[in-house]
Amino acid sequence: MGRAGRPTLLRRPSYPVDVLHGGIGYAPGMPAYRIGHGFDLHRLEALPPEGEGRPFVLGGVPIEHTAGPVGHSDGDALLHAVTDALLGAIGAPDIGQLFPDDDPRHDGQDSGVFVREAVRRVAARGLRIENIDATVICQRPKIGPHATAICERIAELAECSVDRVNVKGKTHEGVDAVGEGRAIEVHVVTLLTPADDRAKDGSC
Ligand SMILES: [Zn+2]
Repeated sequence: MGRAGRPTLLRRPSYPVDVLHGGIGYAPGMPAYRIGHGFDLHRLEALPPEGEGRPFVLGGVPIEHTAGPVGHSDGDALLHAVTDALLGAIGAPDIGQLFPDDDPRHDGQDSGVFVREAVRRVAARGLRIENIDATVICQRPKIGPHATAICERIAELAECSVDRVNVKGKTHEGVDAVGEGRAIEVHVVTLLTPADDRAKDGSC
């Protein structure tokens, strides 16, 4: 109980409604935390001329591999999942709605653009990224040797410190398309909390 006899645990910090621009934002009485989940899967094909795989890029980091993703933009499944986790946490339309894959402007697009837009929307709602945790599932290439560079790139795009980003790799034990190296799958969760003064002065 607080000094005035009120239960302090029920009092939440308030936040100006004018930082909200539609969708879900943080306002008095709303829960302080928001969790977002993102998932993506891309087929992997041999690089041209044998297949239609794009150069393999993950978390914005080019990785040498004999196969590459097929699909939306540059096929970066990790950045797509990060984008969807952030958008999901604020109740915004998902990446496919904001950036349709039949729009030729997005063909081959650096997926960092999508993350930056999601981060902008998070900040516009008076929220900040507390952490991002990602699991990449693919038989090959190995993710571990690239995890640090990937975390650094995601932190750069998300405008947060690198210790707020975690990326880990798993295999699929040789099972199914992912295990046979014909696809890559990514899961991402993120936690958003009310921003501090950086949101109020527009610096984040
Ligand atoms: Zn994707």
